[in-house]
Amino acid sequence: AIVIGILALQGAFIEHQDALQKISLQKKIEVIQVRTAEELAKCAALVIPGGESTTIALLARLSGLLEPLRQFVKTKPVWGTCAGAILLSKNVEGAKKGGQELLGGISITIARNGWGSQVESFEADLDVPLLRDPERPFTGIFIRAPVVLSLDTTPEDPPIKVISRLSPHYLPESLTSSNLTHEPKTFVALQQGLHFLTTFHPELTQDNRFHEYFVRECVLPSLPPPLQ
Ligand code: GLN
Repeated sequence: AIVIGILALQGAFIEHQDALQKISLQKKIEVIQVRTAEELAKCAALVIPGGESTTIALLARLSGLLEPLRQFVKTKPVWGTCAGAILLSKNVEGAKKGGQELLGGISITIARNGWGSQVESFEADLDVPLLRDPERPFTGIFIRAPVVLSLDTTPEDPPIKVISRLSPHYLPESLTSSNLTHEPKTFVALQQGLHFLTTFHPELTQDNRFHEYFVRECVLPSLPPPLQ
């Protein structure tokens, strides 16, 4: 079976494990919790859950996982949700210098808690044309979610594919009043090469289509073809 790890230092890791164990491709995969470099070494792909990105990064450093994670991200598929999406970004805005360690992987700048304190959490119906059953909207659960501020791809990077965008009317005025384009701020699910990021929490719904998407579009394509 293909081993998919869930980084289990803090946050909603059990929910991701449950969701992956329910998808239609479930017979092809084995899901394990990752707390050590030895466990990470067994994985073909990794999910980084929501929680508190600073706490997850601190615990990763204390467990000797930070460098192994950075190496892992260079070659293997990783999906970050919410706090995990922050960790998977190349740049974070507003963090104290040295106050937020990142893994990189997706060439964007992201803002923690970017919705402002007046919008702690909300739900929004998302159109996601690439999911199974695309006519059915996906309920995005946003909890102190990060906001994508800019795409920072260089010519060497794989292109960033926007998998879902939020209707701009959900954006608070604080995000639309600047004369910068508000376009990237509506991006809530992105793929770059083998990496995938959602600023919301698909694992907190009973709808496993994003888990399916990650396995189908990021994990399976990363594997060598089977021997004939
Ligand atoms: N606000 C959290 C952070 O900055 C993320 C919240 C979440 O994962 N639900 O890490």
